[in-house]
Amino acid sequence: MVNGRAIPKNSTCLRAGDYLPYLRSAFSTRAAPDDSVESIFRPLIAGRSLLATPTGRHALWAFLQAAPLREGDEVLVAAYNFYVIVRLLVQRGLRPVFVDVEPETLCMDPYDLAARIGPRSRMVLVTHIYGHTADLTRIGKICRERNLLLFEDCAHAVGTLHQGLQTGQTGEGALFSFGVEKIINSLGGGMLAIRPELLKGSRPPQPSVGRRLSLLDTFTRFTYTVALSPGVYRNVLRPAGRALGLLSREAPRKVREYFEPSKDDPTYRFGYESRPPFKMFMAQMQSRQLRRLEENVGRRRDLVARMRSGLQRIEEVRLPDMDRHGRANASYFVANVPDPFRLVDHLRQCGVGAHPQEFLDCSQLDQFSSYRADCPVARQASRSTVRLPSFPLLTYRDADHIVEAVTSYFTRKIR
Ligand SMILES: *Cc1c(COP(=O)(O)O)cnc(C)c1O
Repeated sequence: MVNGRAIPKNSTCLRAGDYLPYLRSAFSTRAAPDDSVESIFRPLIAGRSLLATPTGRHALWAFLQAAPLREGDEVLVAAYNFYVIVRLLVQRGLRPVFVDVEPETLCMDPYDLAARIGPRSRMVLVTHIYGHTADLTRIGKICRERNLLLFEDCAHAVGTLHQGLQTGQTGEGALFSFGVEKIINSLGGGMLAIRPELLKGSRPPQPSVGRRLSLLDTFTRFTYTVALSPGVYRNVLRPAGRALGLLSREAPRKVREYFEPSKDDPTYRFGYESRPPFKMFMAQMQSRQLRRLEENVGRRRDLVARMRSGLQRIEEVRLPDMDRHGRANASYFVANVPDPFRLVDHLRQCGVGAHPQEFLDCSQLDQFSSYRADCPVARQASRSTVRLPSFPLLTYRDADHIVEAVTSYFTRKIR
């Protein structure tokens, strides 16, 4: 370990007080009222019904029930994506049509989108991946001209702006997620922002579906979040993990699979009852973090700008153009490198948490073999992307250490 440093790959940096709403009501199983997110997110998003959902994927599921879609309709979706989202489309009886991504933003490429629209196309699902704004101007225009529903996946994109406005206000609907890895972390919870007209005549999503292990599930998220706060990670988790050999490559995967099905599991089905309900403490945690959102985004962007200027000197590292279509929230900081797995091993030895293959080219996954498509940019991205830390509690010295750690990997290899 260089300099005894230990930087987790990600941390949402909750303050001690942010946990209070959870601690106060940890044993309550009651769901929050339907309108619990309305007043919190109204200042950010106008002209949409804002509905609390147990997770982000529940918000998409609710949209897919409310929207005028029939079995066999095609949904155009970026190939470089979170496979669970594609899975929901398939489970709803829709046909995903994979669209390649822009190399600069890793979001859906509007030109490739236009080329893949067919007579059965009904909807476009655009993802503001890594908190980069997709080209909403072009994609929105295509959707209006071709009469396609537009849905925005804003799971990474609270604080991501398009033409100065929070993303999620161009399409008919948008999902937001407040899971443990997201920029606002309320230990779970999600939100659907939907045009009010679409809700007419359909049952609105309920925040209250729950499951028996709900308390344990939330407690696991609580523990995970605390463990990844920088001080606890440095002083407790990493030393203990090293002693027990827990920080092998296997351990993070096992923790991850507690939360998510494996990408190779073709039997996964989204279960409406499989997550804790949206509870009142989640709304309270979101409200506290939302007040600090601009400050946090500013700090993240500042750190990323500093690391980018250091990394730009390395020939093998390619950095996305994160502000190409709007303002990125810098909640994810990714770089493209030739061999991300080896770089990540090196970074771990330097005490820097990093993650290869945060997302994958879904058009090549076996579970979607019936929808296979050729998306070369997505394929390249899923082989070359590495995620580096960019959370607001990093110091400039941490940021410089990250740059040095990446640089030392490449200079050593050149020799
Ligand atoms: C996390 C995430 C979701 C879904 O969020 P959940 O709350 O976990 O259901 C959707 N899309 C992307 C890109 C995500 O990273």
